[in-house]
Amino acid sequence: MLGNVALTLWTLMLLELLLACGWAMAAWRLDVPRQAAAHWAAFSLGGALSLGVLLGVPNAPATPAAIGLSSLGTVISLLCMRRGLLLFLRLPPADGEALAVAMPLAVTAALGAGWPAVFPDVVRVVVMCTAVLWLMSRTAAQAWDALRGEFGDTTAFAVLWPLVACIALVVLRLTAALVWPDVTGRLLPAEGPFHVALALVLLVLTLLVHGSLASVVLLRMVARLRHLSQRDALTGLFNRAELMQQLEARHRMLVRYGEPFAVLIIDVDHFKSVNDTLGHAAGDAVLINVAQVLNASARDVDVLGRLGGEEFCVLLPHTDAASARLAAERLRLAIADGHITWRQHAVWLTVSVGLAHGDDPDESPSHLLERADQALYQAKHSGRNRTIVWRPSFA
Ligand code: GH3
Ligand code: MG
Ligand code: MG
Repeated sequence: MLGNVALTLWTLMLLELLLACGWAMAAWRLDVPRQAAAHWAAFSLGGALSLGVLLGVPNAPATPAAIGLSSLGTVISLLCMRRGLLLFLRLPPADGEALAVAMPLAVTAALGAGWPAVFPDVVRVVVMCTAVLWLMSRTAAQAWDALRGEFGDTTAFAVLWPLVACIALVVLRLTAALVWPDVTGRLLPAEGPFHVALALVLLVLTLLVHGSLASVVLLRMVARLRHLSQRDALTGLFNRAELMQQLEARHRMLVRYGEPFAVLIIDVDHFKSVNDTLGHAAGDAVLINVAQVLNASARDVDVLGRLGGEEFCVLLPHTDAASARLAAERLRLAIADGHITWRQHAVWLTVSVGLAHGDDPDESPSHLLERADQALYQAKHSGRNRTIVWRPSFA
């Protein structure tokens, strides 16, 4: 008959094996970075093997060698988890630190196994807890720094709190080992109500840590999908759909706070001739270059996008009519004053700009865009390479 602690630990071991399969599948089939998922599969497998060593001798107390090996396996599997996370977050894998953690534990485990009378369990527990504490704190701190910059404090904490819970548990274990060295040398897999609770906490924490890792992956995937759905594939600027969202947001600010803004539509003049004379690849290079020049010349708060073809759109928030005109001219001249070189060919470009000012809350966003388009039409027909501001006579 298995005791409750053994049953819980066997369940945990089975779960770890399933999780190892899950991460291996993720590395193999899903769009999870291979190296990271492979490390997390090793983390689960290492956890399962460490438990297996501990549980290996049914109805007999585990030997010091088995316990030492199990501790070492646990720390090595945690090192795999950390390395996978660092790789996933594109941070240096810190292998020197890993070695510095694993070596003292390996030595203590070996000494504990060889001379249990001289090196009692409590020595191993203290070394192991210190190693795990340092390891988990470093991991949590590095992941926190990386994730809060990308997703904000709240999301970073929601994802990483299981690591903090692990740290708290290890602090308790270390304190108990130091205060009651005789009692707390070997806590698992001994049976008893307290030990069952401890085994259950271990099981839940293991699941939560895997949940953390899966959440980090999910967050990154969602961010990537959002980026892809908002951006134009060629230039990296906002695409038409996102521009419309941004335009509506500016319009809401106008309705609510009376904050004026401006819409510019910028069209490359005679762009077709670039394609016709130098080819489509040159045309693409020109579009990328125009996007870069516009980006560099716009203010941080301006919103840039590609409407399609060789047509760009810039939203100028918090801008009155006179400043909008100055900004439009600055962007036009930034293109006209330079040229791009494509395979030894100098390509000189100009752009025409249509400007519509948004200061009437009753004017819908699409109507404003239409006005900017009408102004652009006038710019083209009055000779190109100029900025035209919308007037009621254009309608
Ligand atoms: P205008 O001065 O009146 O604006 O003339 P234009 O030649 O710039 O305008 P037109 O509308 O006649 O031609 C635009 C060309 O842009 C036609 C289309 O093949 C080309 N084009 C649209 N999208 C892309 C793209 O992504 N890459 C490249 N290379 N060409 C594109
Ligand atoms: Mg054009
Ligand atoms: Mg056009």
